[in-house]
Amino acid sequence: MQKLIILDRDGVINRDLGTYVTCPEEFEFIEGAITAIARLKQAGYLIAVATNQAGIERGYYSHEMLAAIHSKMLHDIRAGGGDIDRILYCPSYDDNHPWRKPNAGMLTELLNSFNIDAHETVFIGDSDRHGNNNIDNMAEKLKKQVLFTDNLTTAANYLLKG
Ligand SMILES: [Mg+2]
Repeated sequence: MQKLIILDRDGVINRDLGTYVTCPEEFEFIEGAITAIARLKQAGYLIAVATNQAGIERGYYSHEMLAAIHSKMLHDIRAGGGDIDRILYCPSYDDNHPWRKPNAGMLTELLNSFNIDAHETVFIGDSDRHGNNNIDNMAEKLKKQVLFTDNLTTAANYLLKG
């Protein structure tokens, strides 16, 4: 069965500079991220990106600029032998927006559109927030399903080791 990997963008694929990426020139890949995506893609995973981009509704950049940023990102990922099957983003800063992480809207949209079960899905992010909780007060059952790695390269190493 095909499995899905959902990647956060900022802090996983590109450096999170603590501010918004407002143009392609500010998008800087984390070392090893392109290779890690290529290895996962070539291993047969579907790969999606789900990213909060509230900078759009805050007026820092437009939907068109984000499209240009993602076009450059995709170009470089494809040049490295990988691909991203779908990119979703939430432009809203409203914490009640169903698509704004940690709300599950983007994740359920991806599971539905790929017709994949949550059990066949890996989510990779750089924050341990889950709802209003972090890992420390997660249910034990859920905690067992979380793995901490240094970066996307070590996460890929873990997933590909089988
Ligand atoms: Mg992040």
